Amino acid sequence: MFSLSRKLRRDGKVIGLVPTMGALHDGHLSLIRKARQMCDVVIVSIFVNPTQFNEISDFDAYPKDLTADSSMLANLSVDYIFAPSADEIYGPNFKTFVTVDDLSEKLEGSSRPGHFRGVSTVVSILFNTIRPDVGFFGQKDAQQVALIKRLTFDLGFEAEIVVLPIVREDNGLAMSSRNERLTPEQRSAAGIINQALLKASRAAQEGESNASKIAEIVRNTIESEPLGNIDYVAVVDNATLEPIEKISQSAVLIAVAVRFGEVRLIDNIVLGDQE
Ligand code: AMP
Repeated sequence: MFSLSRKLRRDGKVIGLVPTMGALHDGHLSLIRKARQMCDVVIVSIFVNPTQFNEISDFDAYPKDLTADSSMLANLSVDYIFAPSADEIYGPNFKTFVTVDDLSEKLEGSSRPGHFRGVSTVVSILFNTIRPDVGFFGQKDAQQVALIKRLTFDLGFEAEIVVLPIVREDNGLAMSSRNERLTPEQRSAAGIINQALLKASRAAQEGESNASKIAEIVRNTIESEPLGNIDYVAVVDNATLEPIEKISQSAVLIAVAVRFGEVRLIDNIVLGDQE
């Protein structure tokens, strides 16, 4: 991959990288389509990154089917699939990790210790190996986006970070490989998460500026669905992820994690100007 990307750069190609963990769905495909529009060469990485799983059972349960993923990509004119083994990414005696202070510990970080250290490390390795001109990420993982923007700037990677909107199922549930593990009843009930976020967003548009009132709207709406159990509802600054009290001009992220049975779902909405 090193020598391939060196050659592509020498030939003046604009390289787009779409990092994924496989189990591809329409959310991933939207990133790949955008990459196809913007770049000369599209590389999709498929790597279920062991260091970002804090529980080995979660890693073992993660769907891994390279054949199915590759056939989904066949119609999208992807130039390269980069599907390394864990040993290729983490060589013998691997000791070097990347941590993004503060951003890593909040929200998802507090229930998944070590998760973002794994994410920042693997993204740094991928960026360093492939040297993409553009990296494509989904707004679905809002905290990951904040972290990757931070590390790209801090470590001086040249990649431009493009963030694509959340792709949803018909009932509003954000697409995720985890949705397959919901019962049909839970899957339909989980549409409440998006309804709650939209309700809060409408309230903000209509002038509600108190962040705890906004959080309460989300909470109350989700709690109206008995199958859902809220892990957190957070109203934070979209870039720093620091809690805020008042909705103002800068972009505000409403982020939630909700359990349906064993399955933990995350979702979010951004209010205000994302730039
Ligand atoms: P994953 O394979 O879960 O690591 O996701 C790979 C990329 O796809 C990440 O940048 C995710 O944010 C993005 N992604 C996952 N689900 C969605 C979705 N429903 N809509 C948009 N992007 C998504």
